[in-house]
Amino acid sequence: MSENILKKFDYTSISDDCIKCGKCKPVCTIFNINQDEATSPRGFIDLLGAYERDELELDKNAKDIFESCFLCTNCVDVCPNDLPTDMIIEQVRNDIAKKYGIAWYKRAFFFLLRNRKIMDFLAKMGWVVQTCGIKIDEKKQSALFRINLPIEMIKDRSIPFADRTSFLNKYPDNIKATNTKNANDNLSNLKNKKVAIFIGCMGNYAYTNIGDSLLTILDNLGVDAFIPKDQLCCSAPAYFTGDFDSVDYLLKQNIEYFETFVNDVDAIIVPEATCSAMMNIDWAHYLHDQKDWKKRAEALAPKIIMATKWLEENTNLSYILENTGKRFSDLVTYHDPCHAKKMQGISAQPRTLISKNYDMVEMSDSNRCCGFGGVTMQSEKYHFAKAAGLPKAAMIKDTQASIVSAECSACRMQITNSLHTAKVEDVVFKNPIELIAAALLEKESN
Ligand code: SF4
Ligand code: SF4
Repeated sequence: MSENILKKFDYTSISDDCIKCGKCKPVCTIFNINQDEATSPRGFIDLLGAYERDELELDKNAKDIFESCFLCTNCVDVCPNDLPTDMIIEQVRNDIAKKYGIAWYKRAFFFLLRNRKIMDFLAKMGWVVQTCGIKIDEKKQSALFRINLPIEMIKDRSIPFADRTSFLNKYPDNIKATNTKNANDNLSNLKNKKVAIFIGCMGNYAYTNIGDSLLTILDNLGVDAFIPKDQLCCSAPAYFTGDFDSVDYLLKQNIEYFETFVNDVDAIIVPEATCSAMMNIDWAHYLHDQKDWKKRAEALAPKIIMATKWLEENTNLSYILENTGKRFSDLVTYHDPCHAKKMQGISAQPRTLISKNYDMVEMSDSNRCCGFGGVTMQSEKYHFAKAAGLPKAAMIKDTQASIVSAECSACRMQITNSLHTAKVEDVVFKNPIELIAAALLEKESN
């Protein structure tokens, strides 16, 4: 194991390396809504150093502080010493989970993520029940409870709902492209190309149109698709919550499974920023003290690529979109998911593709975290998620765009709810993949 990666988990040495310049404070999502030095990146780092030196007890107050970080990585982005605040917070959350346990509903949720068949059954049941218990807005793919339940997790909130059939259950494993004209074009470089799709849990159960749209795009390009049916959750929700047993199980199952087909495909494409960052960056971080597994995760990482990045850099999709001649009247604004731009450097690719058929307008700070923050933030600390979401809703409203887009379903859930909370009702959220497919479908119908 390199000394470098070990150093990344040494709280004392990180705390010693913090020069207290304060550059991280103005960009910190939690500090902006809770102006306390303790809930700032350098505050977290200081406290973690003290914790490692046994000068700070991991009491309820410390737990509360460490659980208030959104893991947005804004601080890492601006830190002159590249201090990995997010990674050490993720690490200490495991100590918190060991000491205080994990709330029953989170344990139940992570159990379901490990057991796809039970999750499939419950999602189907949920689809039946929800048709009576909640008011569904098909256009926004969100739902409101008809009765006002006294639970902060769902009260007055716009939340995603399960689709009738999950994406993974809707299609066969192998889908041969029907439109071979483009692939046979010598300029396209796509002949005999095949990609696997990692869909992500929200795309699988709630926002299933993302997967449908991705298949439309691949078919238009003449690229064959493989849908690996045994894929499990990328483990991000469990990682951010400190449930390392679930992380260990999920990522090892996925690594073993991916290794069975990775050499047969050109890439494993992922229309989700958080899942792809988890798999191609955070798996190796998590496995820093399991040398062999870390090596296997790192061997897979170059093939796990966000969908817009792969499409823009490896196909002639831009050219095809331009030649549809289609321009929609909708104005689109793009939000940069933290796990796309800051962690993977992906921000130009979705914009390039969307702009071929839509007019775009930039919001005042597309890089500002939407405030999703993970399972704990969305449940026990929802007041923080709500406060962080309102400025994002306001800047989207100011653009006068009718569509806000981001390649991340966690951002979609949070932004859709923030717009609802801010009473901005005339803006809908679309994954860039959905916008691109709409242009191609429009071309087909002409
Ligand atoms: S990850 Fe985000 S919320 Fe957490 S300390 Fe860094 S900037 Fe603040
Ligand atoms: S930017 Fe980095 S070095 Fe400066 S105070 Fe923040 S964590 Fe410390």
